[in-house]
Amino acid sequence: MNLRWRRTKIIATIGPASDSVKNITALIKSGVNVFRLNMSHGDHDYHKKIFSRIRSCSNKTGTYGAILMDLCGPKIRVGKFEEGSIQLKKNDSVVVRCGSGIGRDGIIISQYQQLYKDVKKGERILLDDGNLECRVVSVNGKDVHCKVVYGGELKNNKGLNLPDTMISATSFTAKDKMDVKLAMELGADFVALSFVRTARDIKGLIKYMARVDKVIPVIAKIEKPEAVVNIDEIIKSSYGIMIARGDLGIELPAEEVPLIQKVVTDKARANNRPVIVATQMMESMITNARPTRAEVGDVANAAMTSVDAVMLSAETAAGKYPVKAVGMMDCILREIENHQWSSGSFGDDSGGNLDRPSSRRAIAHAANSLAHDLKLQGVLVPTDSGHTAAVLSASRPSSPLLGLSTSMETCQKLSLHWGIIPFLINKEESQNWKLLSQDICNRCKLTRAGNRVLLVSGFNDDELLNEPVMKIINVIN
Ligand code: PEP
Repeated sequence: MNLRWRRTKIIATIGPASDSVKNITALIKSGVNVFRLNMSHGDHDYHKKIFSRIRSCSNKTGTYGAILMDLCGPKIRVGKFEEGSIQLKKNDSVVVRCGSGIGRDGIIISQYQQLYKDVKKGERILLDDGNLECRVVSVNGKDVHCKVVYGGELKNNKGLNLPDTMISATSFTAKDKMDVKLAMELGADFVALSFVRTARDIKGLIKYMARVDKVIPVIAKIEKPEAVVNIDEIIKSSYGIMIARGDLGIELPAEEVPLIQKVVTDKARANNRPVIVATQMMESMITNARPTRAEVGDVANAAMTSVDAVMLSAETAAGKYPVKAVGMMDCILREIENHQWSSGSFGDDSGGNLDRPSSRRAIAHAANSLAHDLKLQGVLVPTDSGHTAAVLSASRPSSPLLGLSTSMETCQKLSLHWGIIPFLINKEESQNWKLLSQDICNRCKLTRAGNRVLLVSGFNDDELLNEPVMKIINVIN
């Protein structure tokens, strides 16, 4: 038995290893649902070019790949070095300097100019994803004097984390403002905000977009201890959540990350928010053609805990095997989902218990039971903004879930959500649901005589106007 539709979605970060038309097309064919552009790298001209390339490849392949533009937030990086890198040795003294210029042996330039004001003696400065560690000895003017605890090679522009420090920089930086303007100009489907600390960060970004133009759905990246503390409010203010394990595992002890992943996944689902698990999922495939068994287990675990999407970063942006990494991820997810499907564990919406159930959620639960008990071939959801389909997705139905919309934007947005197969329909088609259901089922090859599908409609963005209808439709050829 092979499931035709994979339920867990795949996000691929695009970069030099994958940005050609040929590679983007191959990634789509291997199963990428959402493309991520990381604003930490590349200039606006580059992102404009790649953005339109992705849209054109999606058009040509008849797919609805969404584009997520990831704003760097107050991500701190070191500057460049005269020789491209320096070596740090245990117990060496090194200066982290706030200012312009180029680093050299013993001097690291911080791109964050307030660092000297924020850090205190004894605090840790972690470099290159926490692989190197220094401790602050003293602060002298704009120079932070440190002792190396764990050494190694430090290359140009590597990340710098301050897990012990209260950082004064806002989460939404001047660069983010320029980048989000670009995202609005291009029509990105999602923007992700890095280093979110409170719901205020998300609200600030939304307010800014509303002032400038149109609000793009915001994905909150959970990578700070403060975000974990404030998770309930952050989930409520965001469209979706990304568990950004790279920085999270530096800012917090790494052993805390798996439980945070599980708790945040359940909370996001309970609030009908899509949740993405990111970073190091297929890390060894940056250089190797096969993943480690531990990586396979990590992807499998994400599917077993029913996240909406799994994300590849350097594996697809800069690795040697971008298409293979996606293909491998696709195989692992299908293996787990085949098992979930045949053992009847799809449709378990216990992970999404809400304290205050909405009528959408109650209908989703009923639709899920009907589809399961009557072995319906699919659940068809006409959806304007995508909200109803998103709520149905959060209950993880066993039958294929088809999100039908007259809006391309909505179809693209739905690409992120667990199990939703987006379908673009035209206005005339939406006048006759019976005919449309038959047509969709034909196109999806769901039309063995006697097959039945469930149509769930009647929702409005205004809860007060809701008149939900569930209709079982015979789709006989
Ligand atoms: C992460 O830290 O896990 C992450 C996704 O963020 P970035 O890749 O932007 O550092």
